[in-house]
Amino acid sequence: MHTPTLLPVSIIGGGPAGCACALWLHRLGIKVHLYEAAGHPGGLQARSPYENLWLPGVQGRTGQAVARALQAHLDSEAVPYSLRQPVRRIDPTPEGFRLHFTDKPPHLSRFVVLATGSVPRRGPFQPGDTVIIGPGDPMEAAPVTGRRIAVLGGGDNAYDQARFLCQRGAAKVVIFSRSPPRGQALLRAQIPQVPVRIGPYHADQTSLTVDDEPFDLFAVMYGFEAVLPQGLTPDLENGYIRVDRFGETSLRNLFACGEVTDYWHPCVATASAHGIQVAKQISLRP
Ligand SMILES: Cc1cc2nc3c(=O)[nH]c(=O)nc-3n(C[C@H](O)[C@H](O)[C@H](O)COP(=O)(O)OP(=O)(O)OC[C@H]3O[C@@H](n4cnc5c(N)ncnc54)[C@H](O)[C@@H]3O)c2cc1C
Repeated sequence: MHTPTLLPVSIIGGGPAGCACALWLHRLGIKVHLYEAAGHPGGLQARSPYENLWLPGVQGRTGQAVARALQAHLDSEAVPYSLRQPVRRIDPTPEGFRLHFTDKPPHLSRFVVLATGSVPRRGPFQPGDTVIIGPGDPMEAAPVTGRRIAVLGGGDNAYDQARFLCQRGAAKVVIFSRSPPRGQALLRAQIPQVPVRIGPYHADQTSLTVDDEPFDLFAVMYGFEAVLPQGLTPDLENGYIRVDRFGETSLRNLFACGEVTDYWHPCVATASAHGIQVAKQISLRP
């Protein structure tokens, strides 16, 4: 029978939070391995073709370029990581945590860092050619010129995407928001020509209608939800993993950082900073 060796730290998720945590632990001399489900590190940045204007010191680079820079940094420091390696389940054991994979034996790890981030909420919709879920690459890949588009949702992403759609030559853009829109006033002011219908609506994916009004495409901008681990049940807050100020969850030696947590104001800088705080905290553990 295969007896897994005990690895000091496993990080699950290679977005900005996981990459920063892995880099710092590695540089602090602690053995670490990062597991990423996708074929590249970078997390949500990898789906952003937009210029990242919010990350101090990074001007003129897209989110996708930031994602590539993260991978280059891991490579140049020889931080151990695996791509296309989703962690399927984590079980607590007396020695630590047992990580399960699809096509290789489990690993035992003393500390686990959950940096699994968040994904766009899809509501009742199935993604496809006429229904796009969330902002970024999938929206940019959709043909929109001359088409009628219903943007579902009333947050910043709904307003941002409505603006991009107008710029890209959509024939008609309508925002549907069940409750008073939460998008920043600045973003709302940029598209005065876009009608905003506030209140309950019925969007039918099969007929592509909203309250019987026909469209060619739905852009579903329902915000994001945390990607939670299978097998463990750390305490949550509003659907996100609750952590203390050291990044530790309600389960000892299980840490979490970045957008999977209840950390405020998620962005690349805060996710990275959170990953670094967790790395430092683990390095102080005897
Ligand atoms: C379109 C778009 C544009 C954005 N633009 C900006 C911007 O300009 N500036 C800015 O600061 N922020 C921007 N953001 C937000 C920023 O990208 C996020 O705040 C940041 O990526 C969060 O980092 P994270 O590491 O916490 O999570 P994520 O980036 O979500 O990374 C989590 C990673 O975990 C992996 N994962 C999940 N489950 C598993 C599992 N079971 N096993 C292995 N791996 C797993 C995922 O594949 C993913 O790679 C943007 C977001 C989007 C969607």
